[in-house]
Amino acid sequence: MIKNNQFKKGHIPWNKNQIIKTCLNCENKFGISKSRNLQKRGKYCSINCKKNYKYKLAKKFKINEDLAELIGIIVGDGCINKNYKRKDYRIQISGNQIEDKDYYDKYLPELIKKTLNINCKPYIGSNKAYIIQFQSEPFRIFLHNLGIKSPKAKTSNIPKIIKKNPLHLKSFIRGLADADFTLIFTKRKKGGPNYYPRIASQFASEILVKDLEKSLRDLGFTLNTKYNYKRKDKRGFTTITNFINLDGPINLNKWLKEIGFSNNRITTRYLVWKKIGYLKPKSTLQERKKIING
Ligand SMILES: [Zn+2]
Repeated sequence: MIKNNQFKKGHIPWNKNQIIKTCLNCENKFGISKSRNLQKRGKYCSINCKKNYKYKLAKKFKINEDLAELIGIIVGDGCINKNYKRKDYRIQISGNQIEDKDYYDKYLPELIKKTLNINCKPYIGSNKAYIIQFQSEPFRIFLHNLGIKSPKAKTSNIPKIIKKNPLHLKSFIRGLADADFTLIFTKRKKGGPNYYPRIASQFASEILVKDLEKSLRDLGFTLNTKYNYKRKDKRGFTTITNFINLDGPINLNKWLKEIGFSNNRITTRYLVWKKIGYLKPKSTLQERKKIING
């Protein structure tokens, strides 16, 4: 109970046309007129409470497996854009409009609905990427508190709170892998078939690869990394990248059992290999589906 609340602004206890409400943010009681209540106004006792409510909601997020997976996807393929005109932030996740289509059409919207109760649909952006975009200030602040903010490329890592719980860590890695890893099959001798599995990725962030290396080794995987690898891209710019590879069928089977993939871009690669014993480089999703269903 708050004493003296009858002296609060807007609170006139002897007015019969007043309705007593509880502020969503500070949970203090305050009075508003019936007409304001009908307009669905008067959720907060003050402008400050209205401003601060998102910080209260941000603290209510609890990491579970679904949320850890979504965070992994955002660390992989997400970015947080500030719209300076509207003074708000958009969380954008973008992939390839062909290879990631199934994942963005169904799996990802369902995961966002489950975790944030937000409905969203993918669209093709001006850069031809396949994009899912949504807005949630509480979630954006929650991510910020975990250290996930834009621009993130070189500094992203696995949030500490996720590393603490192996189930959450595995879900995070699945989300990150669905966004940024691939499954390829290499030749073991010249002219031979592409049959030897490799789960692989590369990141601009050295810290992220170091985190992944430690986490995956702790989970019992064997792997190779290469840090600060300089290479020239098509336009002649030098970029620095960090590689992580998990080679061989033992790693693959362990990954499928303990972490898994949810993106058809990757699962179709596995299913082709399982069916015919190899997978040629540069296959398309359509080609792989044909082999699997044929
Ligand atoms: Zn309040």
